Amino acid sequence: MKKLIVASNNQGKIKEIKEILKDFDLEVVSLKEANIEANIVEDGNTFIENAYKKAYEIYKLTGEMVLSDDSGLMVDALNGAPGVFSARFAGEHGNDKKNNEKLLKLLEGKKEENRTAKFVAAMVLIINKDKILKVQGECNGYIIEEGKGHDGFGYDPLFYIPKLNKTFAEISSAEKNSISHRGRALSKLKDKLKEELS
Ligand code: IMP
Repeated sequence: MKKLIVASNNQGKIKEIKEILKDFDLEVVSLKEANIEANIVEDGNTFIENAYKKAYEIYKLTGEMVLSDDSGLMVDALNGAPGVFSARFAGEHGNDKKNNEKLLKLLEGKKEENRTAKFVAAMVLIINKDKILKVQGECNGYIIEEGKGHDGFGYDPLFYIPKLNKTFAEISSAEKNSISHRGRALSKLKDKLKEELS
């Protein structure tokens, strides 16, 4: 079975990616599971730049197929912030609670129509040095005034989807994958991957 290294240690993302790729004959592993310690600085100005950097560094180290994802939240009233700084919006990398508190503070007093936002996921799949696929998926919603739900990760409890009348933290991972930025980016990659593995 071919190995696909997901260039991330974010358990929430890895769980979603494994679920989406479960029908492929692929051993999907995280950096940790592949015993890779990498400290890649995400200093790009765009999600695609960061995703490419992560994938390429791991590909150089391993020569295996690598999938990387760089994602984040863009809030219209904040001119696209937190954007590429989503994971460290409040300073400390990956502190979801503080990031959410900061976001709510910045949007305090704003009406629903001024709380529009989107999640963006850029994905880069390096199959080999000549075959590199890049895709991007988006999902639109609103930032509500108080977190709801306990599933998911990151900004999920604050990200409300009007069509579902629920936040990302109130739906199953399968349901989230069917509409999320990452789900949409991955489904774009799936057909190409099918061709490569057939
Ligand atoms: P990355 O690991 O550099 O891509 O950072 C992405 C950050 O954006 C995460 O730490 C979360 O704060 C946020 N994020 C990305 N995707 C999601 C999602 O599906 N739900 C909630 N937060 C997300």
